[in-house]
Amino acid sequence: MDAERSANQTAVTAAGPDGIVVQAARKRFGDHEVLREVDLRVEPGSVVALLGPSGCGKTTLLRCIAGLERLDGGEVRIGQRVVAGPGRHVPPERRRVGMVFQDWALFPHMSVAQNVGYGLPRRERRGPRVEAALAMVGLAGLGDRSPATLSGGQQQRVALARALAPQPGVLLLDEPFSNLDTALRVQVRTEVHRLLADLGVTTVFVTHDQEEAFVLGHEVAVMHEGRIVQQGSPAAVYARPATRWVATFVGDANLVAGRADGDTATTPVGPVPLDGRAEGSVEVVVRPEHLVLDDPSPAGGEPATVELREYYGHDTVYLVRLDAGPSLRVRAGSVPRFDRGDRVAVRHQGPPAVAFPAGDAAPAAAPAAASVS
Ligand code: ATP
Repeated sequence: MDAERSANQTAVTAAGPDGIVVQAARKRFGDHEVLREVDLRVEPGSVVALLGPSGCGKTTLLRCIAGLERLDGGEVRIGQRVVAGPGRHVPPERRRVGMVFQDWALFPHMSVAQNVGYGLPRRERRGPRVEAALAMVGLAGLGDRSPATLSGGQQQRVALARALAPQPGVLLLDEPFSNLDTALRVQVRTEVHRLLADLGVTTVFVTHDQEEAFVLGHEVAVMHEGRIVQQGSPAAVYARPATRWVATFVGDANLVAGRADGDTATTPVGPVPLDGRAEGSVEVVVRPEHLVLDDPSPAGGEPATVELREYYGHDTVYLVRLDAGPSLRVRAGSVPRFDRGDRVAVRHQGPPAVAFPAGDAAPAAAPAAASVS
């Protein structure tokens, strides 16, 4: 089936991917300003995850890119074309955009093949393009079935095949896995990951799930209250969050109060190297996996007590309270070593950390790369 898939993929992406540029996009519903000067750039062939909490404007931004909503200001370009801007609104069907909605929006009274052919010119609705799109998502031969007879994962793939069949320049996915239960979600996510990697189609997908964003996205655009507050590779966003909010929204983080003196902060978990230089009162972003627990020892570590243990199988997270005050989350190995009430020693062992001035949103320490000049 793989050979069949890759032959069909060549056919499906023949027109080549477009890039997307959104500049200063604004959108309001009544008094509610939902998009506030949003900037987003998606390189041709790359996958960008739009990550943010419920209600921050992710779906609205996706719908503005698709042309399902009109902008109040700013511009959207797809490939070389301005599709939305002052006095301009190209309708969705002329944007070369494929979209998969949260509920997949399959037509229940149509067969799988009719669903997939829906966006194609009439004469091609029964032809090889439908079969090619179905084969591409691993559903060859199921065209005559009714969507209701398919599993959730298969229905999701029908929705993908329908979006891909007209050879879109870009693919937009709105919470594509939210209708699937946890076990199926991971499996379907891997299938979609493989498909997107093979196809090289420019993709923006909306999610509020950090793991999903990190696994699928070449880049993550973190959205908060109608703005994109940071866009970068998952590793860059995780290691160097642009704001205190990003630090805590994207992954687990301890914000540890300390005193910075150049490239080191003195904190209740000992000295922490900083990613750049800072002075004075700071809050240091200490990821739980960058703290280590040991048996109490006069030789090192800050004394603490285990308050809770969360066992996840692949690792164990401890909530520990330092004798010096704050509670911290500590991620350790898969074999639980300590229990509630145990006395432990905590120390920092990790790469240089980002620090924010106490009480401020922006980082205290200029990133190391930026401070060279
Ligand atoms: P979720 O993850 O919950 O889907 P989201 O980040 O995708 O959230 P949007 O669906 O873009 O958020 O909605 C952003 C805000 O705009 C919400 O407060 C929502 O109620 C409001 N909104 C969205 N569409 C409309 C509309 N057509 N009319 C009025 N308000 C709307």
